[in-house]
Amino acid sequence: MDRQKVEQAVRLLMEGLDLDLAQEGLRDTPRRVSSMFIDDFFRDMNRHPGEVLNTFFHADYDEMVAVRNIQFHSICEHHLLPFIGRAAVIYIPKDKRIVGASKLARAVEIASSRPQLQERMTSQLADVLMEKLSPHGVLVRIEAEHLCMTLRGIQKPGTKMVTTALRGLFKTNLATRNEALSMI
Ligand SMILES: [Zn+2]
Repeated sequence: MDRQKVEQAVRLLMEGLDLDLAQEGLRDTPRRVSSMFIDDFFRDMNRHPGEVLNTFFHADYDEMVAVRNIQFHSICEHHLLPFIGRAAVIYIPKDKRIVGASKLARAVEIASSRPQLQERMTSQLADVLMEKLSPHGVLVRIEAEHLCMTLRGIQKPGTKMVTTALRGLFKTNLATRNEALSMI
């Protein structure tokens, strides 16, 4: 990423908005904003959520595993404004392949660390889990508040968007899906 270019762009944006960049509070804003995008919001942009799911262990367990309440923040690619929420991941292990809960949380973090769409993030996570773990099924549910909706008067604050992605048994078996949804 080109730090100087991002800084310059923020400067241009502020100039376009007729802000006085010489003002004390604004002087360092271009540097702060570029650092926020590069070092925080998009720091894992060149990583793939699958890379933390390469190691799994074997446990004598083949029932549903649910990890819920995984907090995340991302940046909406349409408006470059944050969306903030939590994700839940459920899977049914195959051949007793289990992945650590912290790995799932890390995969969510990597998937959110780029200009993103909630819908795409949801299906990306489901697909990568299917690919890496080959479970009987995966269900990913994401619930988030999008500031581009709630700050612009289109929706009231607190409005949440919910997306789910179903793979394998969760897609084909209604009872399994309902059991999973009751867990989260
Ligand atoms: Zn948006």
